[in-house]
Amino acid sequence: MVQALTWGLIGGGQGSQIGDAHRFAARLDGLYRFAAGALDIDPARGKAFARDLGLAEERAYGSWQEMLERESARSDRLDLVTVATPNATHFEITRAFLERGFHVFCEKPLTTTPEEAEALAALASSQGLILAVNFGYSGYAMVRQARAMVRAGELGRIRLIVAEFAHGSHADAANADNPRIRWRYDPQQAGVSSVLADAGIHALHLASYVTGQSVAAVSADFVSCVAGRELEDDAMLQLRYDGGAVGRLWTSAIAIGQVHGLCIRVFGEQGGLRWHQEAPDQLHWTPLGAPTQILERGAAGLSPEASRASRITLGHPEGLIAAFGNIYRDLHDAIARRGRGEDSARLAELPLADAGVETLRVVHAAAESARNSGRWVEL
Ligand code: NAD
Repeated sequence: MVQALTWGLIGGGQGSQIGDAHRFAARLDGLYRFAAGALDIDPARGKAFARDLGLAEERAYGSWQEMLERESARSDRLDLVTVATPNATHFEITRAFLERGFHVFCEKPLTTTPEEAEALAALASSQGLILAVNFGYSGYAMVRQARAMVRAGELGRIRLIVAEFAHGSHADAANADNPRIRWRYDPQQAGVSSVLADAGIHALHLASYVTGQSVAAVSADFVSCVAGRELEDDAMLQLRYDGGAVGRLWTSAIAIGQVHGLCIRVFGEQGGLRWHQEAPDQLHWTPLGAPTQILERGAAGLSPEASRASRITLGHPEGLIAAFGNIYRDLHDAIARRGRGEDSARLAELPLADAGVETLRVVHAAAESARNSGRWVEL
């Protein structure tokens, strides 16, 4: 019988954007028992919400520091800690839990600078711990299908990767001074980039995840369309990949009507693939000289990677929770095996610390390029 791991959450308090998705996804397959949390910046609110969610009184913590001290001292300490707090806190919290020997699943971006991300990756590796980053879209079955098809050579040599994450959530100039939006465009609080570090980073990750290629050079154009914003609310990147592909990436927060807006297209010498997050169960595949086929999640004949990432039968839509759930399931396998001194094949499917480092290097190189009128920056 598969044994459930114990799981704790930091951040993701009541009303947060991403907390529920983690709570639902971690329990989707019965592989984790939600045992502890420091869920909110406000201790009383965090404890009250933890109790509402069914956590035991002594494991409903008022702060992550208290959770770290008390969990470290327990004989039944947590097997995995998820960090879902605002970006600027990721480094300190993740470092503290890694130092005490906990496996960590951190929200993206892993940190706000590549140097900090490198330090976390090195710490996890020296401690023999798993550090994963929630590039959650890599958990979708049809993203894994696309990756498997590229790996199997079905597209031939990859020529061009076109990725987008362009939404319209911050398009309303009349709402630009809302404190929940304004901080994102303030370099003191957000770092060197706004929309690229927040949304575009998912598209960057998907491009490398699907094709297996890393960015070798970038030229970027950042603009702030809404008056008064210091950081970019729209960006266009040109990319060169180490495997020879050319990349184009558009990310935006002012693209009204784009709804969610994450999409990836990969064009090889023998065919092209297209996947859109708003219709995640379908992958459009066009072999050279043949009509377009729509590959459906759950259908026969898909790759083992896609079949494994698929739960319910053909025609019943899956979504973000199932995609995050696949990452939690892979993490469970990796952690359980690590505990027995075994390797897990699932580690190869997971977005780990190296993806967190690589994406941040590109974000910072793009910001440098944008400051220098689009000059190419090599990584
Ligand atoms: P949010 O502002 O909606 O919620 C943040 C939560 O963290 C709140 O409950 C807040 O009280 C709590 N918090 C803040 N500081 C804390 C601290 N020191 N200790 C404990 N709790 C604390 O933010 P959000 O949109 O949920 O984003 C959180 C993180 O998740 C960010 O890093 C963001 O980039 C990431 N995110 C990822 C995805 C994805 O698809 N992977 C989607 C949305 C957000």
